Amino acid sequence: MLQLMWFRTDLRVTDNSALAAAMQAGPTVAFFLMSPGQWRQHDDAPSKVDFWLRNLAELSKQLQRLNVPLLIREADSWSQAPKVMCQLAEELQATALHANEEYGVHETRRDQQVAAALDDLGVAFRSHLDRLLFKPGSVLTRTGTYFKVYSQFRGICYQRLHSALPPLVALPKAQAALDIVADKVPTCATGFEPPSQALRDAWPAGEQAARERLQRFADEWIEDYHEARDFPARPGTSQLSAYLAAGVVSPRQCLHTALNHNQGEFESGNQGAVTWVNELIWREFYTHILVGYPRVSMHRAFRPETEALPWRNAAEDLQAWQEGRTGIPLIDAAMRQLLETGWMHNRLRMVVAMFLTKNLLIDWREGERFFMRHLIDGDLAANNGGWQWSASTGTDSVPYFRIFNPVSQSQRFDPNGRFIRQWLPELAALSDKAIHDPHAGRKGQSSLFGASPDYPLPIVDLRASRQRALDAFKNLSSAS
Ligand code: FAD
Repeated sequence: MLQLMWFRTDLRVTDNSALAAAMQAGPTVAFFLMSPGQWRQHDDAPSKVDFWLRNLAELSKQLQRLNVPLLIREADSWSQAPKVMCQLAEELQATALHANEEYGVHETRRDQQVAAALDDLGVAFRSHLDRLLFKPGSVLTRTGTYFKVYSQFRGICYQRLHSALPPLVALPKAQAALDIVADKVPTCATGFEPPSQALRDAWPAGEQAARERLQRFADEWIEDYHEARDFPARPGTSQLSAYLAAGVVSPRQCLHTALNHNQGEFESGNQGAVTWVNELIWREFYTHILVGYPRVSMHRAFRPETEALPWRNAAEDLQAWQEGRTGIPLIDAAMRQLLETGWMHNRLRMVVAMFLTKNLLIDWREGERFFMRHLIDGDLAANNGGWQWSASTGTDSVPYFRIFNPVSQSQRFDPNGRFIRQWLPELAALSDKAIHDPHAGRKGQSSLFGASPDYPLPIVDLRASRQRALDAFKNLSSAS
């Protein structure tokens, strides 16, 4: 009756649906598949892969307390997964394999192939709902289709939460020790450079660290979340995205913590908690979109007519954006935050994404890929959703004529330039007014009074480029 527990992006022992089910069914052996070739194909960031491995090492320790050995196997590409899994199942004479559902097209295909191969051996593949509060396909319109509009999707989610909250799964009791020795968890993966120590320190591994972060957010910041969350210099958001993406904390744990701080309410009461639960529902929404409209995970626009947009092939502009050298301080500070920490504040993700796709008129897919290659919290559904929202090519996206002006955004959300000064020390000496647009009124000059002369001139005129984007979208609507 030996059970296999396949850990993927669910690197925790508490509130883990598949682990609890496996241990309930019989003695359990856990394993993780190293797939560096597949990860590269998915543009997974080195910081994210490193985060997985650091969490895996912590997970192995937690599993030891439950007497569950963690084995490590390698399948460079997921096409090799069925073979590797069958070998493992035969070697251990397992009767069932448990895993928590993952939702990308490749993940789904991998699981189907593994399930079919195991079936031939008489080994059952049991999948469990864990990454989401609601199973994709269970929140549908009256006509049985996936929602395209967030507020309608959220309405149904709220109804469901009112009738039954997804319960937390109890931590399994330790099983009797098995005669199987755990493997050593690798500290790096082939082809992935380890990130800096500073980056690692910013994202400590392990579910204990994740739970502390969640608790601290709930104790100190959730009350003001609705107001503070737009100001990148303030610690106004939870910074839990990397932990949610790797499954070190679950959405159920997040939901229950928020509700505990709001007398069990998610639609009324404390506005901060209500707004935060809304963000958890956005996370659900984009994953449901990924499943319901799989073209979005195949580099295609949700709105097919936007494929005709005349994206510019502008390698130098793209590179300036990627390296934080656009001459627009908020954009450059945000991109440097991404490069150094593997994370970027949500408001800034929207601002830099809109700048790339509207002011520079560069294809959203370039930005999506670059983000994925650098984000420690890179998540196909949320990243794609965020990019297509910003580029006005997606479901329920921002109307094309609402284009953020990055200088106004800077004045509004970083009024004293605190965030800009942190990431662009070369501008630290500028006044609170000048720091948002150092070259304003100095057209054609390449040096700045009181700042580093190296800071570049803006690579694009904001007003003219806004008009260019509006024209491109207008032509699209008149052509369709
Ligand atoms: P909080 O504000 O504390 O929110 C709590 C959690 O809710 C987050 O951790 C996240 O899991 C979820 N969440 C919040 N906002 C969103 C959202 N708009 N869409 C989906 N889920 C959300 N989020 C990712 O997790 N991975 C990505 O790869 C990603 N790429 C993005 C790309 C773009 C262009 C944009 C505009 C947004 C992207 N987001 C992504 C969403 C959002 O920016 C991050 O989830 C958020 O900044 C993470 O910080 P936090 O944990 O402090 O969030």
